[in-house]
Amino acid sequence: MSFESLGLSEATLVAVREKGFETPTDIQREVIPRLISGEKDIIGQSQTGTGKTAAFALPILEAVDPELLAVQAIVLTPTRELALQVADEIRSLRGRKRVYVYAVYGGQPIGPQIRALERGTHVVVGTPGRILDHIRRGTLDLGSVRFFILDEADRMLDMGFIDDIEAIFRETPRQKRVLMFSATMPAAIKRLARRYMTNHEVISVSSDSLVPEMVDQEYVEVLPGRKFNVLRKVLDDNFYGIVFCATKRETRELSERLRRAGYPAEALNGDMSQAARERTFRRFKNRKTRILVATDVAARGWDVRNITHVVNYSLPMTPEDYVHRIGRTGRMGRRGKAVTFVVPGERDRLDYFARRAGVEVKRSELSEELSDYRGRNYRRPKNYRGRW
Ligand code: AMP
Repeated sequence: MSFESLGLSEATLVAVREKGFETPTDIQREVIPRLISGEKDIIGQSQTGTGKTAAFALPILEAVDPELLAVQAIVLTPTRELALQVADEIRSLRGRKRVYVYAVYGGQPIGPQIRALERGTHVVVGTPGRILDHIRRGTLDLGSVRFFILDEADRMLDMGFIDDIEAIFRETPRQKRVLMFSATMPAAIKRLARRYMTNHEVISVSSDSLVPEMVDQEYVEVLPGRKFNVLRKVLDDNFYGIVFCATKRETRELSERLRRAGYPAEALNGDMSQAARERTFRRFKNRKTRILVATDVAARGWDVRNITHVVNYSLPMTPEDYVHRIGRTGRMGRRGKAVTFVVPGERDRLDYFARRAGVEVKRSELSEELSDYRGRNYRRPKNYRGRW
């Protein structure tokens, strides 16, 4: 099934394509059409890493009226970190539509938040305590809300947010869609649903993660100048896979260097003609080349079976790219390995990707002792757009 068949508008489909999503995940297939044309409230049983944010974000972005500068959708999250992630994800999907998305959470001065809310926003994402604080101060009006979303509802209940959630709920109009996402379905969640949802449906897709379970993920701590030597160790492990680089130039240089060292490697990047790319790809598929050195764009959409390894020689730019890259292996019931190189200062970024994708990445034995270098000599790459 494709995004095109879910009932989204052409403008939203463009935004989805630009984001790099190719096919909808299970939860997206279930939730998007229901939110666009159905009437029932929804409980989605699904974890982080299943694409649940986009599942509710896309229909909401369609429904928001940009001309009406009032809060039309509110998303409650248990933590400040999740609030930021969800707000980022919604923003990244809005395409050219002028929809403002704002995150409010505790542990931060309230002044700037008040000023931002006064300027006006269409979607608010935040933690219950701080949202209630704004409501009480009169700086947040929920009278125009049409979508009320509880993200990680089970965690919010565990954290004791139930009274806050109820108080916020009472501030919203009667007519609205309520959505609740939860990894588990304890009795407390069912009670909450009975109280606040009229006619609801439960959609359960808990086992579908964007990252195949068959991928063992590791990171190798290494100094920039030592990457090549460590890569050779990975390649010597019966390798059939893709080495991802940050730039076209890096793919060229690295594949050259590998060939000089006797490895059958070929570059795949966007500078090559379509015909040349297809030739390279076919050689890889027929195993004439066992090492493909590629950029994200060039490697998108290709489907090859039995890839043993994916190497992130350079970190990807976004969590989506991370998920895309490592999803190249571990297919069709075969185990695969994803090895991510991190140079000093990059660990935080990898941790962020892993959290976003809902996966665990273990430290590899190939890691070098870098404690003396951590955090030094490392700058944010030019063009890097995401959170650092
Ligand atoms: P979530 O479960 O909403 O936290 O999403 C996990 C990650 O998967 C995020 O980085 C999303 O941008 C990404 N993602 C969501 N839907 C898709 C999709 N259909 N294709 C590829 N990546 C996706």
